[in-house]
Amino acid sequence: MATRKLGILPCQGACNVGNMTHKVALKFVDNEKISMVCSLGLPLAIPSIIDMAKANDHFIALNGCPMKCSSKALDKVGITDYEEIVLTGDFGIAKNKNFADETGMDEVEAKVKNSIEKYFAS
Ligand code: SF4
Repeated sequence: MATRKLGILPCQGACNVGNMTHKVALKFVDNEKISMVCSLGLPLAIPSIIDMAKANDHFIALNGCPMKCSSKALDKVGITDYEEIVLTGDFGIAKNKNFADETGMDEVEAKVKNSIEKYFAS
């Protein structure tokens, strides 16, 4: 059986929680089993980015806040097989403009790690 691939979409929003989605994603991306997916390129309908995204079998949408931009980016190109994580709602992290504020990031990292392990163990 071919190795399954997982795509992570950090929303990379301009705030503490958006910034944390990127930092957490970087801890797991290995460009083999786990790839970073460009959450901006999908809704912009850039063909190469959509093709690269669709090379993955499953996704984790890392959203900073309830706007859920990463989830919406996947929806936009018809990708429905994803786990949705929202930093404000799932972890009670307050959104602010302090980019150095990483309060709660450890819990987000632990959750993503757990989700990755579960996916590859299933
Ligand atoms: S999900 Fe929230 S934090 Fe992330 S890009 Fe969208 S509006 Fe910004």
